[in-house]
Amino acid sequence: MNILILNPPQRDNIIMVKEGRCMQRKGAWGYIMSPITIVTMGTLLRNNGHIVTIKDCPASGTSFSEMLASIALIAPDIVYINTSTPTIDDDIYAAKCIKKQNNHSAIIVLFGIHPSCQYPTLLTENCVDFCIIGEPEYTALDLAASIKLKSNLNSVAGIAFLDNSEKLVVTTAREPIINMDNLPMPDWSFIDTGNYRLPLNNEKFLLVNTNRGCPYRCTFCNAYVYYGRTPRRRSVATIIQELKNNVELFGITNFMFWAEEFILDKKFVLELCHAIINAGLSIKWVCNSRVDAVDPETMTAIRRAGCWNIAFGIESGNQSILNMINKKITLDQIRHAVSIAKNAGLQVTGHVIIGFPNETRETISNTEQFVKSLALDFVQYYCAIPYPGTQLYTDAINNNWLTTTDWRQFEHNISVLNYPQIKAKEIMKIRRQLMLKWYLSPKKVINTLINNISQPSDLFAFISKIPGFLRWI
Ligand code: SF4
Repeated sequence: MNILILNPPQRDNIIMVKEGRCMQRKGAWGYIMSPITIVTMGTLLRNNGHIVTIKDCPASGTSFSEMLASIALIAPDIVYINTSTPTIDDDIYAAKCIKKQNNHSAIIVLFGIHPSCQYPTLLTENCVDFCIIGEPEYTALDLAASIKLKSNLNSVAGIAFLDNSEKLVVTTAREPIINMDNLPMPDWSFIDTGNYRLPLNNEKFLLVNTNRGCPYRCTFCNAYVYYGRTPRRRSVATIIQELKNNVELFGITNFMFWAEEFILDKKFVLELCHAIINAGLSIKWVCNSRVDAVDPETMTAIRRAGCWNIAFGIESGNQSILNMINKKITLDQIRHAVSIAKNAGLQVTGHVIIGFPNETRETISNTEQFVKSLALDFVQYYCAIPYPGTQLYTDAINNNWLTTTDWRQFEHNISVLNYPQIKAKEIMKIRRQLMLKWYLSPKKVINTLINNISQPSDLFAFISKIPGFLRWI
């Protein structure tokens, strides 16, 4: 089959990152992530005999009209469209335009967390033929084979569609990919790797998927919708081979280890770190972790293996809010994790969310004071977003907290939750103030520059990101 895997642009030219549960503007961190899901999917489909084109329009700066012109030339049989909640209206618009232009000959398949939850509504759009539910790679492969052979679509696990009588069909749930080494290493020659650069020094970087799945049940998190709750990981040997390939074939030495929570299995992390050192790989990377998963041995090991920044989901500086969102961590664990990471020589990023149910001005103030007391290098304050698939979404619907059903507003710099004790507008205002206070502090600005800028071109790259960041704030 002639297959196109598409990341459509936004009609308003806002650049959005769409990678699993990460759905945010480029301005949030000043970078676009290399699209590991669509490249892995494309490699798998190509390795199985399909002709594959990948178009990451936001990254390449391709406009809607340019995208449509190139699709007219490709004339794909199937278009797999990468989606997210805040972009879904534009993703659907792209699907409509492709259908119309290609005389309804292209089969449109949506994937991502949003269609995994919202498929009954999306399938009523007459431009959507299938939605993939959950982990997309092997479902995309099986679906392409079934379409090609005209075999029974009911046998393709993990899809939803409307049958000939417009009745919703949801096939058997797809089992998670237990042996992740069965997935091919992403072939980055599908895309221009020059489009994916770090914000502080403008160097190229790539995502490397190390593990998937998280067993926790935080009320605001939709990660399980995509990757389930069973932790799975690739073998150390495969990850090392992929890192070597990326260094040798693409000259890229900066990486983001991509996982719901990288440090879930200490033994695996220590083995990987030793293997990176033993392979003589001179690389720099970043990762994330729950605060309760780290200890001095692990922090020292990741630092020695090239990690320079670790991100922790701090979420709140108020223990009762942490309990209410089911994060299952304590304020002491957060303090301890930040302290041992700093002692190991790592820069530390804190992800903080305000505007959860029960939040008050006082609990937000607790969070601000707590965050200030930590030796963090970077902080990102977000508004709590009730993404479909989360407990927070169900609670928001049941309690009538939602201020809008416009999915474009479901972005972390916008609150869509009105509570009796605090309104969405005030949550947004406080978040903006917190961001400005943090990033306009002269001490922080000087520390960031000293720690991350080593040459004039880095400074230029850094300064060029500031307008987008301020717009996002
Ligand atoms: S620990 Fe992290 S990945 Fe797991 S459910 Fe909570 S927020 Fe999501």
